[in-house]
This record gives sequence, C-alpha cells and structure tokens, in this order.
Amino acid sequence: MRIECIAIGTELLTTRRVDTNSVWLGERLAGLGLGFHRKTAVGDSREDLAALFREALGRSELIVTTGGLGPTFDDFTKELFAELLGAELVEDAGSRADMLAFYAARNRVPPQVNFKQALIPVGAEPLKNPVGTAPGVWWQDPAGHPGVRIVMLPGVPREMKCMWEDQVEPRLKALAGAPVHTLRMVVAGVPESNLDERTREVRERHGHLDWTILANLTQVELLARGSDPADLEAARRDFEPVLGPDLVCLGDANLEDAVLAGLQARGETLALAESMTGGLLASRLTAIPGASAAFQGSAVVYTVAAKQALLGLDPVWLEGVGTVSEPCAIALAEAARQRLGATWALGICGNAGPDAEGGAPVGRFYVALAGPGGTTVRTHTLAGDRVELQLRCAALALDLLRRQLID
Ligand code: ATP
Repeated sequence: MRIECIAIGTELLTTRRVDTNSVWLGERLAGLGLGFHRKTAVGDSREDLAALFREALGRSELIVTTGGLGPTFDDFTKELFAELLGAELVEDAGSRADMLAFYAARNRVPPQVNFKQALIPVGAEPLKNPVGTAPGVWWQDPAGHPGVRIVMLPGVPREMKCMWEDQVEPRLKALAGAPVHTLRMVVAGVPESNLDERTREVRERHGHLDWTILANLTQVELLARGSDPADLEAARRDFEPVLGPDLVCLGDANLEDAVLAGLQARGETLALAESMTGGLLASRLTAIPGASAAFQGSAVVYTVAAKQALLGLDPVWLEGVGTVSEPCAIALAEAARQRLGATWALGICGNAGPDAEGGAPVGRFYVALAGPGGTTVRTHTLAGDRVELQLRCAALALDLLRRQLID
C-alpha cells in the first residue's frame, strides 16, 4: 500500500520546530508491517497545500496529514480536502458536543471561532480528540477516489498520538501486513565500521532478517527486523558472544539504564564530580525514573573556586597540576566518592573548546573512576564541537563504569 505523510505547519520549515510527528507515525506503521513511501513538510499556504493534496490523491492509497485542524485562519486542511473532493463541510453534532463538554469541564465557553473545528466533510467520519478540541477525520473512498483513505490528525503530538493509537490503528489493522518485530542491541566503545566488520558473519547467517546499523554520538545500535520473534531470539543468542562486553543492553534501554541496572543489581551507588560535562551525566541518569536507588548526586564544579568550595580541592595544587589533567580527574572522583559516601564516583574534566585551555587541546578530556579497589583514569582526545564533545565524554564515562560493573 502506498502511504504518504503530510506534516503541515509553517514552523516545520524553520529551525524552531522539527517534524517529529512523521517519525513517530513511521515507527507505528512499521509495527503494522507498513511504511511511508513519501513524507512532506509544508507550510500553511493554501496554494501549496491544495497542489500537494491533489498530487497525493493521485498517487497514494493512504494519506496521513498532521496539523491545520485548528480554529484559526491558517488552519484549512479539512476545507481544502473537502473543496478538492467536492464535498460539503457540515457540523458534526457529536464533535460540537465534545467541544462544549471540553470547555465546560474547564469552566469556560468555547470562542465562536472554535466551532469551525466541529465541521466534517460529508462522507467522512470524525475522529474523537480526547485531549484537545480539534477532532480528526477518517475519510474512506472519497468520491472519485475509490480505495483511498485520508486521515487528518491534529499537529499537537500528544493529541495526534493518542488518536492514531486508539482510532486509526484499529481501522488500519485490516489492511496491515504481517507484524514486524525488532531486535535492538546497543553497543558502546566500538566504531560503526568496526562493528559492521565484526558482525558481518553473524548478520549473514541471519540474512533473512532486515539489518540496520545506526550510529550516533554516544552509542551504536544494531537493529534486526523480522516477522518471527524466534528468528530474532536466535540472532540475539548468536550475537551475544560476538559482542561480548561491548553489548550494553537490549530492547528500549540505553547506556544509562544499563549503568543504573548494574549498580542496583549489586546494591551499589554512584556519585559524580562533573567539570567539562556540566551536569550532563547527572541529567542523563536522573531522566530515568527510580534513579535515586543508585545515583546519589553530582557536584557540578566548573571553576577552581567551585572545586575548592564543594569538594575541598586545594586551588594552588589544582593550578599546579592543571584543571584539565589526570590528577585533577582523579582528585574529583575521589573527593566526590568520599563526600557523598558512594561505592563509585566518576570525576570528569576536559576541554570542550572552542579554544585550547590551560595547555589542553580542544577535545582532550580525562575520566577517573574511583571505587572500592582504587582509582583508574582514562585520557581521551576526540574531535567535535562543544556539545558533541560533552555528549561523547558523558557516554565514555558511563561506559567506563559499566565495564567495571560487569567485570
Ligand atoms: P491542530 O491541527 O492541532 O490545531 P495546528 O496546525 O493548529 O494543529 P500548530 O499550531 O501548527 O497546530 O501546532 C501545535 C503544536 O504542535 C505546536 O507546538 C507545533 O510545533 C506542534 N506540531 C505541529 N506539527 C508538528 C509536527 N509535525 N511534529 C512535531 N510537532 C508538531
């Protein structure tokens, strides 16, 4: 089935907003064994939208739009489809009642302009919006286009998602292919090309699965898709010995989940002293619910004064050894471990640029891990801009601890 997504909204064409709706919809379609053959982001222009809708009606069997269902002058998704398909827009009593109830529950009266949202093209069905005021539209076999289905959803991601899951997916299930299952393996500490080479033989052995290697700044993901969960399980069993300790976790988890799970399994705790990463590691860890079971806290100690005030490091000694140095990272880790009484502590210092600092080139950083058996330290020199270097540094620090925990 040829499926097309049209993400509507002028701000999607600017740097202010990324079209995440179509990415999410693509994932949901994949779960049904379906996929987009085309995606377009388009501004709130009548002419552009009308031209695009006309083309889409001629080439796709399922057209999914997000946005342009609101009450304002620049929302005209329904009007344009109705015009193109020669259908009248009439008020849907249920949608009007839902809107009145939505406002009544908030002790408000809907502005007159909002009633426009209850208009539905004749021949189409409204899709209820349980979390907002704009209903969606399901339009099957519109006049002159038998076999075509049009789904119009709001742009607000939260509204779009629940309407898709509750009302569109059940309608699509009848059309769907075999469900697709995914095996996701997260790998750290291995460059993408190396992973490609190392896993080629096993991937070829499981060549009937659809393989993808996705690398980002902090980890590499190996993805396999297939219709039989037993095939994916067999692939997982074959991959585990090939990946060894480089395999971080499976499923939806990421590096920080693996670290917290490792600590919790051992009943151990972690403290941080972050200079170069400025709290990024703490933020990644605390994004996970229940992190406090293992994560104690982080001292964000960016300046010498902060390193002295929060961790008691001697400023004269620090200036002597350098604030971007192995001894500094070690002192940070040991002080954080001692002050927070944690089993483990990571100390991080480095230069994220853009200028060389205290003799340390841009991209040089030190990660120390203090634990029950003493302190180890690693030196890294990587390329990248400031944000990239901070992200990679945070990931390398987490991975250093993860490997220690599985050792
Ligand atoms: P609606 O049909 O929900 O009334 P609208 O066109 O009036 O849609 P907008 O005002 O454009 O909606 O967008 C509402 C919110 O949803 C904004 O925060 C917008 O950035 C976000 N949004 C809209 N489309 C997308 C998209 N494709 N991906 C991510 N966010 C989106």
